[in-house]
Amino acid sequence: MKAVVMTGANRPWEVWELPIPKAEPGQVLVKVHASGMCYTDVWATRGFGGNIYPQTPGHEVVGEIVEVGAGVHTSIVGDRVGTTWVQSACGRCAYCRENRPLSGQTATNCDEPRTTGFASQGGHAEYIAVAAEGTVLLPDGLAYTDAAPMMCAGYTTWSGLRDAAPQPHEKIAVLGIGGLGHVALQLSKACGFETIAITHSADKRDLAIQLGADQVVSNGTELRDLGGADILLVTSNDFGIAEEAMAGLRVDARVVLCGLDFSRPFSISSEGRPFHMMRQRVIGSTHAGLRHLSEVLDLAVKGKVKPIVETFSLDRATEAYDRLASGKMRFRGVFTPSHSN
Ligand SMILES: [Zn+2]
Ligand SMILES: [Zn+2]
Repeated sequence: MKAVVMTGANRPWEVWELPIPKAEPGQVLVKVHASGMCYTDVWATRGFGGNIYPQTPGHEVVGEIVEVGAGVHTSIVGDRVGTTWVQSACGRCAYCRENRPLSGQTATNCDEPRTTGFASQGGHAEYIAVAAEGTVLLPDGLAYTDAAPMMCAGYTTWSGLRDAAPQPHEKIAVLGIGGLGHVALQLSKACGFETIAITHSADKRDLAIQLGADQVVSNGTELRDLGGADILLVTSNDFGIAEEAMAGLRVDARVVLCGLDFSRPFSISSEGRPFHMMRQRVIGSTHAGLRHLSEVLDLAVKGKVKPIVETFSLDRATEAYDRLASGKMRFRGVFTPSHSN
């Protein structure tokens, strides 16, 4: 099969011919129909996920089960499924003994998690073997290319919104109108919240309104001039921009870090209206459990959230990576391996 491969830190993606994996006990073999590109693929390629090379990236994977491994009683051939970046936990370490649901926390706390596109093969390939327990059934009628970005972009931002616990009449600001942000805007609007987009890109303003923003501003000062927001969903991978945007937050506001910036720490300024005097909070957020992924998929099949995607064959991996890493991808790049031949 064809598979995109990260060959080493800061090296270009390559397309390799590899054997089709087998569904080991507890696993299913999925013919990949769509695999979304997350900016975390770039962090992994730059070495921030450790020395995992050679490895196939991709953790927004959807497709069709073509083989069921021994001991799997919950999946059948032909099921349309998706998986996220955490497929399973070891079940035995101190964290696992807390018996929490499978979530993004599992990946960073379990001693031996099976992670898609990091410790284990990712989805930018024609086939992938995944732990059956880490798959979710896709709603009937949801196109694969619309489903794939829900596995991380949708799941991440929905979890962030839920972690912020927005109350009726609160205002939501979404920072960054890229792969995550353009989904977050739609999710906030689907819940009926007054939603403000923050983007530096003048050419994204009209689109932000079309996606559900009630207003668009370019920074925290402009946000404050509008009356401010109660929740700031940080979907950008630049903490510098996030820190500036906090100038536009109201009393008791929550800043939710959905995007990752490995290049610098997140810092809180004491200037202006000090954070502690505003009694604000910063919330770290990750995939909050598969139940919440189901909620996002439900919104997607109802048409409340629809990602804007650029599709790529696996053969265009190098070009796709360049667009993703340089911030030119609008808004989600998705490999469609089943159409590659
Ligand atoms: Zn991701
Ligand atoms: Zn564990």
